Amino acid sequence: MTVAFISDLHLTPDRPHSSEMFQAFGKSAPQLLSSLYILGDLFEYWIGDDGVTELGHGETESTIKSIADSGVKVFFLHGNRDFLVGDEFSKRTGCTLLPDPVVIEEDGLRILLTHGDSLCVEDIEHQEARKNMLSSKWKVAFLETPLRQRFETADRMRKGSELAKKTKPMEIMDVTQSAVEEMMRDHGVNIMIHGHTHKPAAHEFTLDGQLARRFVLGDWYEQKSIILLDQGKLTLRK
Ligand code: MN
Repeated sequence: MTVAFISDLHLTPDRPHSSEMFQAFGKSAPQLLSSLYILGDLFEYWIGDDGVTELGHGETESTIKSIADSGVKVFFLHGNRDFLVGDEFSKRTGCTLLPDPVVIEEDGLRILLTHGDSLCVEDIEHQEARKNMLSSKWKVAFLETPLRQRFETADRMRKGSELAKKTKPMEIMDVTQSAVEEMMRDHGVNIMIHGHTHKPAAHEFTLDGQLARRFVLGDWYEQKSIILLDQGKLTLRK
């Protein structure tokens, strides 16, 4: 059986094509997969598990639930857009939440999984915001505000980040190689899979004299991007 990795679907009612692709994927998953790992930014943004209807993501939750109910193990690791996905979401959909980063063992391989934004160390602005928003103090305070207000705050932040992206040089929005190497070394692995940068690729390099591989998932704006692990072999399908 095959293990699949996906990320950066950025689902939103504004981009119905991506949601349709995910629903079609959900229908075929039970026959093909033993496990599915979602590596963050499944949603364009998330304002708390009680906001699923407000955000129009009921159908996506049903799709994940149907995959999990069929016997496929579904794992979810947070992205920078959907870091507020919590225990209620996990209960409703039947997925297991994973910390970022995490090392998994599948098909005889030890693989380091991360969303990837923590590797973009040159984007100081993002790293500062990340530190602030991942603090439990910020999360608790945000989740206590009324739903409507959270919705507006998230929308404003999203527009701000779109604008900032246009003015930032391309290089700072990619991962920093030394950060990649440090994270792999810290976890004693030579394979890493991440998303976030929307630059799908399979990179090979030498880490402490050994072959190391970094697989990057793409977004789902135009087409699916999936990494499959089958019989010990990892394949990127853009
Ligand atoms: Mn991201």
